[in-house]
Amino acid sequence: MHLIFSRLAITVAVLALGASAVLAQAPKKVALVGGMLITGREEQPLHHAAVLIEGNRIVAVGPMDQVKIPADATVIDTSNKTMLPGLIDTHVHVVLVGHGDYPRYFKWLDDHKQEYPLSRIMDISAKQLLMAGVTSGVDLGSPLQEVLDLRTRINKGMPGPRLQVSGPWLTRHVAIFPANYQIDVKSPEMAASEVERLANAGVDVIKAHSGLTREDYFAIVQAAHKHNIKVHAHIYDEESVRNAFDAGVDVLQHVGSAGLPEYSKQLQYDLARSGRPVVPTVYHRAWLYPDTIDFPERLDDPEFKEELGEPLYSEVMDSFKNFASLGYFQRVDREQFFGDKSIRQWIDGGEVVSMGTDNGTPANFHKDALWREMKVFVDHGMSPMRVIIDATRVNARNVMGIRDLGTVEPGKLADVIAVDGNPLADISVLGRVDVVVKDGVIYKGAPAPATKKK
Ligand SMILES: [Zn+2]
Ligand SMILES: [Zn+2]
Repeated sequence: MHLIFSRLAITVAVLALGASAVLAQAPKKVALVGGMLITGREEQPLHHAAVLIEGNRIVAVGPMDQVKIPADATVIDTSNKTMLPGLIDTHVHVVLVGHGDYPRYFKWLDDHKQEYPLSRIMDISAKQLLMAGVTSGVDLGSPLQEVLDLRTRINKGMPGPRLQVSGPWLTRHVAIFPANYQIDVKSPEMAASEVERLANAGVDVIKAHSGLTREDYFAIVQAAHKHNIKVHAHIYDEESVRNAFDAGVDVLQHVGSAGLPEYSKQLQYDLARSGRPVVPTVYHRAWLYPDTIDFPERLDDPEFKEELGEPLYSEVMDSFKNFASLGYFQRVDREQFFGDKSIRQWIDGGEVVSMGTDNGTPANFHKDALWREMKVFVDHGMSPMRVIIDATRVNARNVMGIRDLGTVEPGKLADVIAVDGNPLADISVLGRVDVVVKDGVIYKGAPAPATKKK
């Protein structure tokens, strides 16, 4: 009965629109064919698979000899590659590019406003993320209007990940960032009214940064939840995590990454039982530092030079001259001492773990931060399949709250990437992204988005 009625309704709609209008609006079809498919669900990969996309939705998934590819589809050959859901990074900073020294970087930006307005920096970062296979992300700390404008540009088709943005963060410890990146909270009432203001301005999430009181967290969460907005807390020590957790903070950022002993069993148990996601952001100091000291050549990337352009590229490279003495790495010894135990508390404890990188921080580049973060978890015993699911389905549904994102299944949003090789055997192949499709649009991998079928 329902089917008949809905068909009738469609027929009426088609007649009303006129046949030519319907034809002109036929959704674009894209097919990725031949490679292994990791769907983002807990199941074995599908070999020699095909994924068919119409408009911005996935419409068919299966073995390539069973999925019928329409003649008018644009076909991308993914043989010898692995297809998987677009990666999601739940902690990005589009205003940063990996420069080694914040005060110097912000002074430089101030002195080069003409050539490098913040919008240009953000566009560069957004593109780097997308080309690295990051099709969605959460930006946690940018000037308000600038980041809302970036989100609009991306939603209109500029290359970049689907973004949730916090705008400036709330804190009681004003940091070395310029004033428009942070809100200096003086009382819980002020915290609540600032959340109200940000929510009305259109932010997707709130970032509660450091130094806040227990009462602040309660006020912030209450105000944010009234608007159906999640709160991300930037926290390290047990007491802050406990305060944020008790207040109902939705996502716990940076936990277990600051060179502190493991959390108490009670806190770990409460976090695991709650199912609230933790975003440990572990790579960017304890592992990034030795990786860069061992192989400083990672900094000399001709693609990076092209993306940043001059004189920004030279400025960033110059900031690494005394890499070992950068202020950002002064606690690396403690972070390394506790690093293995810190990360294992999340792997063994059963918490919902989300992959986020804090990228843009010193030498933590948009182009490679996420696979490096994922590799640390694999190196410490998390299965590559779990890590991939954490960076896709868990990030989409448990952190961003988007139900139809993060898996390659019929009906879901068409964010699919293909990488060169098998990430279940070697997770670092996630650094070799050959194909990026976001919302059904091909951003990387032949054929180009503007061209029709080959
Ligand atoms: Zn943070
Ligand atoms: Zn951050």
